[in-house]
Amino acid sequence: IVSLRDVHKSFGSLKVLDGVSFSVERGEVLVLIGRSGSGKSTALRCIDRFERIDEGAIEVCGHRVDDPGVDLRALRQDVGIVFQSYNLFPHLTIEENIILAPCAVKGMAKGQARDLARQVLAQVGLEDKLHSYPEQLSGGQQQRGAIARSLAMQPKVMLFDEVTSALDPELTGEVLRVIEALAADGMTMVMVTHEMGFARGIADTVVFMHRGKVHEAGTTAILASPATPELAQFVGTGL
Ligand code: ATP
Ligand code: MG
Repeated sequence: IVSLRDVHKSFGSLKVLDGVSFSVERGEVLVLIGRSGSGKSTALRCIDRFERIDEGAIEVCGHRVDDPGVDLRALRQDVGIVFQSYNLFPHLTIEENIILAPCAVKGMAKGQARDLARQVLAQVGLEDKLHSYPEQLSGGQQQRGAIARSLAMQPKVMLFDEVTSALDPELTGEVLRVIEALAADGMTMVMVTHEMGFARGIADTVVFMHRGKVHEAGTTAILASPATPELAQFVGTGL
């Protein structure tokens, strides 16, 4: 459902992705790990075409992402993305945040979108925050709201980029549990996380990036017995 083949990407003279390949089957969870600057966020952003690639091929839900003529609207209906922070519009209530895209992009009727908002908020345990503004919520609640907003578009794939790393430790768990429930529900996901314990529990595939390359990839078994000194050091230090 997601595949990257020999993807290259540079920012000016800086090579950030240097021949990256991986793929995700429907219902699978792929976790991207690696040191700061190894290219994880860039790889994730290329999947949703927030970054254009220089070379290689990316296919997502049948969309040829590297094709200049790709239908971005259709692509982004199929792919939801949640970042570390600043996901919700601050001047809109949680409900307004959620119904915005279904109404504007899918042309859904407001009443139907409101029903959907209740449904996705229940999924993330935020039913009672419908009429709150983002600033009235804790960081963990905001991230769950952001996930709910993505879910309202009924994506086929979800991308998560360190969605808990801006949170206090006590708020991390509630967000990870929502992601866990989504995975158990069969959602296809690609996630960047530094939560190694969580990665061990949820990943079907682990991809370790190092200097813009896929340095090691496999099941979570690679975390227990790394084949390369770089991954050994990475799991050893946890950073
Ligand atoms: P982190 O764990 O810190 O989030 P990362 O693995 O996600 O790191 P990326 O954000 O993909 O790393 O960045 C890879 C490299 O590309 C870094 O050296 C970064 O400075 C550079 N980079 C990322 N985005 C841009 C940009 N828009 N313009 C120029 N350089 C960029
Ligand atoms: Mg990053």
